[in-house]
Amino acid sequence: AKENGRNDYHQYTSDIDQQALHRLKLHHELMKALQNNEFLLHYQPQYDLATGRIVGMEALVRWHHPTRGLVPPGEFIPAAEDSGIIVPLGEWVLEEACRQNKEWQEAGLAPIPVSVNLSVRQFSRRDLIGKIAGVLEATGLDPKYLELEITESMTMDVERATSFLEQLARLGVGISIDDFGTGYSSFHYLRNFPIGCLKIDRSFVRDIQQDPSDAAIVAAIIAMAHNLQLQVIAEGVETIEQVRFLRKHGCDEMQGYYGSPPLPKAGIESLLYRNSQP
Ligand code: C2E
Ligand code: CA
Ligand code: CA
Ligand code: CA
Repeated sequence: AKENGRNDYHQYTSDIDQQALHRLKLHHELMKALQNNEFLLHYQPQYDLATGRIVGMEALVRWHHPTRGLVPPGEFIPAAEDSGIIVPLGEWVLEEACRQNKEWQEAGLAPIPVSVNLSVRQFSRRDLIGKIAGVLEATGLDPKYLELEITESMTMDVERATSFLEQLARLGVGISIDDFGTGYSSFHYLRNFPIGCLKIDRSFVRDIQQDPSDAAIVAAIIAMAHNLQLQVIAEGVETIEQVRFLRKHGCDEMQGYYGSPPLPKAGIESLLYRNSQP
């Protein structure tokens, strides 16, 4: 038994070493990827449920890995958060999304806001407001065409979040709460934060047809958001039945595969071009 315990112990440490090594390697790779410009953005359109027009788009980062091909964010965002690389990466995403949106506007496409995801690591940096103001200045994008997506967990430190969100609102940038319903939320704070939009998490939308409690929750979030003068957008919309349900309950916008998956530059451009025709 003693022998066994020892073996287990060695087994255990070597697993930990393997994991640590793997993490270290990934951190190093991510740093190099940033230097080598291997990241790119895809854009997922957001549709007005009443008119069917595209009224916004979310920028979603991808890693064009030299050997693995296109890597989805689920496979590197956690490591980027962990290593802190999310901070310079997030700045790159912000700048690229603003630059691209401005370029589309200058090419004559109908102007719409671009949404950018903020990581909690970025959110806790003192210089973030200055960085955002700098990016808007450098790219010349009107702040009303930038929206930042934060999650409920970032609003836990109420004083910090309030001051930060007020500074953002003063810049003229839009603020959305991402994955709404999955985290900590307080209706009191919701009322006091300068937020423009709630994004109903995909996990509630997925089963609205089959699960009466999910249907009730989605209907309640829409009604509550409207009572608080907030816009609501449903995420992960995949079927016409979900669209009908959301329309019936007065949801403002939808984002999901039913409309379109996230698209590379050329793909979103052709949608935006069509969307710009009268
Ligand atoms: P998210 O912010 O909730 O983004 C929406 C995710 O849902 C995207 O996954 C999108 O492709 C996926 N999605 C959209 N419509 C549907 C649908 O109808 N059905 C299903 N099953 N999925 C749908 P993606 O692009 O893999 O991104 C995953 C997550 O990675 C994002 O979740 C976000 O948390 C994070 N992420 C992506 N880009 C960035 C970024 O630039 N910065 C930060 N901090 N996080 C990012
Ligand atoms: Ca919007
Ligand atoms: Ca998001
Ligand atoms: Ca989301």
